[in-house]
Amino acid sequence: MYDVEAIRKDFPILSREVNGKPLVYLDNGASAQKPQVVIDAITQAYSMEYANVHRGLHYLSNLATDKYEAVRGTIAKFLGVPDENEIVLNSGTTEGINMVAYGWAMPRLQVGDEIILSVMEHHANIVPWHFLRERQGVVIKWVDTAADGSLDPQAVIDAITPKTKLIAITQCSNVLGTMVDVKTICTEAKTRGVAVLVDGSQGSVHAPVDVKDLGCDFYAITGHKLYGPSGSGAIYVSHERMKEMQPFMGGGDMIKEVSKEAVTYNDPPMKFEAGTPGIVQTIGLGAALNYLMDVGMDKIAAHENALRDYATEKFKGLNWLNIQGHAANKAAIFSMTLQGAAHAHDISTILDKRGVAVRAGHHCAGPLMDHLGVSATCRASFGMYNTTDEIDTLVDALELAHELLA
Ligand code: PLP
Repeated sequence: MYDVEAIRKDFPILSREVNGKPLVYLDNGASAQKPQVVIDAITQAYSMEYANVHRGLHYLSNLATDKYEAVRGTIAKFLGVPDENEIVLNSGTTEGINMVAYGWAMPRLQVGDEIILSVMEHHANIVPWHFLRERQGVVIKWVDTAADGSLDPQAVIDAITPKTKLIAITQCSNVLGTMVDVKTICTEAKTRGVAVLVDGSQGSVHAPVDVKDLGCDFYAITGHKLYGPSGSGAIYVSHERMKEMQPFMGGGDMIKEVSKEAVTYNDPPMKFEAGTPGIVQTIGLGAALNYLMDVGMDKIAAHENALRDYATEKFKGLNWLNIQGHAANKAAIFSMTLQGAAHAHDISTILDKRGVAVRAGHHCAGPLMDHLGVSATCRASFGMYNTTDEIDTLVDALELAHELLA
């Protein structure tokens, strides 16, 4: 059984008050809170086990290296990747996608080559491709969501032409919660020789992931949404694509030898990890993923799906509330506006007075906001520690906002 009260006790911040009310943290889509095991791992690393990694021959450096490198294996296990050498450690999804844009796409794509994006991508999976458009004449092709906020995998497949080199797509919309059938897209893309990059920033948080089963070429995750530290993350890169990829950043650690005349690169994945990494952040991410795997991603998914269903029912009773996105397969992420002119920022300020933390704004998803015809929404995004009582508090706070702003 999933004991949400026991889970909540693992997260010290959840016992605090905000504005004199118990905290109801519903901004998990932006960043999740950290369990004590992560906080402890960070404290232990800094207080007893800290040194730079990969370089020293002394005890602490070896210890820190072992702890840091062990996380590569933990991430591989979490993502269903048998060979940890297909995991590049980094600071998060933004870095991961930029690495692919600079290291894999830029050297390979020519004027007129096409990259397919869905309209619900986060800016982290848009702006690096605009760089290629601006600098190399690459064409970005957009695939719209349907009226219910779902994304038809066939629409993505139909957008493929002989010029398509890459599909870069989210597994889960950070605004609508829409889950994308990435596997169907990858299967078809493979037969056409098109690479697929999956932005797993949200998808990896809400359901178990098996990257090998998905069949993608790149899969990016970001630690802070996975209950780990900010500045941690990783990207899965298949061996085949790793062979094709050039280093994006140069510096220490990613080389074997450097002379005045030449550089010999380290073996992958370290070839793609320049400079002193986020040592403690990565160790903290390892603790977070072990925690998630101990609880069970399938159990977390079932809990969040129950929250989604409960919230959906509750919201149905509020006829002045517009929920964006009703895809059949969606995570517990709800973007909303009130009927009338109430601004999302004002709504969130009222919610905050009730201790309810939500995100308000464009959610780094400009093209989706344009597509939906809204400038901003309020987003309640649920995590492993949220409860149905908290949904009730959210609904009460929304009723107050409606009363005050209507
Ligand atoms: N992609 C999606 C779908 C996201 O929700 C986010 C963060 O909000 C990102 C990418 C960017 O992640 P980060 O800022 O951690 O690199």
